[in-house]
Amino acid sequence: MSEQKDLKGTPGPMKVAFIGSECYPFIKTGGLGDVMYALPKALIRQGVEVRVILPCYRCIPDRFKEKMTFRGSFMMDLTLEGRTFYVGIMESVVDGVTYDFIDNREFFDWGNPYTGLWEDIPKYCYFSKASLAILNYLNWVPDVISCHDWQAALVPVYLRTRFDLTPVGAARSVLTIHNLRFQGICSIAHLKYWTGLPDFLFDYPVFKINDSEANMFKGGLAYADRITTVSATYAEEIQTDFYGEGLNGHLWYHREKLKGIVNGIDVDIWNSRTDKLLPAPYGEEDVLAQKPANKRALQERLGLAVDESKFVVGLISRLTDQKGLDLINTIFTQMMDDDTQVVILGTGDQRYEDAFRYYESVYPGQVCAYIKYDESLAHQIYAGSDALLVPSLFEPCGLTQLIAMRYGTVPIVRETGGLKDTVEPFNEYTGEGNGFTFDQYRAELLLDAVRRGREVYLNDRASWDAIVLRDMEKDVSWERSASLYLELFEELKG
Ligand code: ADP
Repeated sequence: MSEQKDLKGTPGPMKVAFIGSECYPFIKTGGLGDVMYALPKALIRQGVEVRVILPCYRCIPDRFKEKMTFRGSFMMDLTLEGRTFYVGIMESVVDGVTYDFIDNREFFDWGNPYTGLWEDIPKYCYFSKASLAILNYLNWVPDVISCHDWQAALVPVYLRTRFDLTPVGAARSVLTIHNLRFQGICSIAHLKYWTGLPDFLFDYPVFKINDSEANMFKGGLAYADRITTVSATYAEEIQTDFYGEGLNGHLWYHREKLKGIVNGIDVDIWNSRTDKLLPAPYGEEDVLAQKPANKRALQERLGLAVDESKFVVGLISRLTDQKGLDLINTIFTQMMDDDTQVVILGTGDQRYEDAFRYYESVYPGQVCAYIKYDESLAHQIYAGSDALLVPSLFEPCGLTQLIAMRYGTVPIVRETGGLKDTVEPFNEYTGEGNGFTFDQYRAELLLDAVRRGREVYLNDRASWDAIVLRDMEKDVSWERSASLYLELFEELKG
């Protein structure tokens, strides 16, 4: 769909602009926020010049806003009527990364940071267009624009239409799918009005999905020069009916430009040796000696029976149906025995929050349901648990299993998306593997995986300890993945 331009990239270091709706530590609701933080940092280490463009949400904590400086402002037209809106640029440089926050109180004063699609669609139409406009305003033309999820999906479309003949039009675009479930779907009239884009884009090859609705992600995927997603398995899965969320045919059509690159984690933040939030920090050499101290501290903090011989299973997750919580619910009572404790940290759908609170009341001292978002407790759970459950229905990449491995906590996962690509099933005959896995989305298979894990933990500690060490040795950093992104960007730069 996107017309290939015969333009060679500018000489000098590769320049990449990242555009997305969230970024740790300013604002984060999930894995997207982690990637927007860690990938730019990893690319800088490989000699790339990076700018990250984000909305200046009201909900960004003041301690970050106080460090921003004003870089300029202008008015920009948007909508079919050509209404004009203020675009302010607030800038902050942290660890060599330049962050440009787009300031506009009409769009970014609400939400945490999301509100609901009716309001979010105008918000991200404005954001996508303003992101390109500020690159021109700052006279900083990147070789590649790396766009993330549906909120930035209009960028490739604007780039090849309204901005094609402007300086930033020399850039190429990559659109990364972190989670295909969220797509930015609304009425054709609503999207037409807010984007102000020409009628021909509202036909089936681009935005249109049925007689009345348009899909922002779909249009972006059509216009991006390349599409990436966050694991090789998810790249295959989304071309199928089950995982494709209605876009499988579209993605299959564009498969030549689709590639899976697995996420890493920030190994400075997630470093069990230097982690100040841990009661007993540890590395590979003393994990076996120190983990029990972290486990006891966790049990104490959460009101569980303090006993280091228990098999402690953690779950750190958004509580939504994506995360396989129905399976956990189905087997919860069968999973529990006197040797087992379960710690849940998460927020989300009421029915899951209530179910886990109920289990806490049924198993006092054995189950803790901590229904909150709490970074510091997350660190302590990764360190103090023996195993971490990730039985997702679908999982584009998944970060929690990577963090768990880095902390010597054994993942128990369903073989889907990035979970399949990063967790190798333990093989009791060869002694290989770094976790316990199951394939089909069936509760009894999850139960079996938990029981297999517990059995090894309780009765074959030497094998368990070997898995823990293999997990800690596994390279889960961004370096390799960042090199793959760089390779892709260099191909595009030409
Ligand atoms: P997703 O992006 O689908 O939510 P990921 O596994 O990719 O899932 O990323 C989840 C990230 O959010 C991890 O860094 C995890 O530690 C963190 N997280 C999830 N829920 C909580 C919570 N309740 N408290 C603290 N951190 C959380």
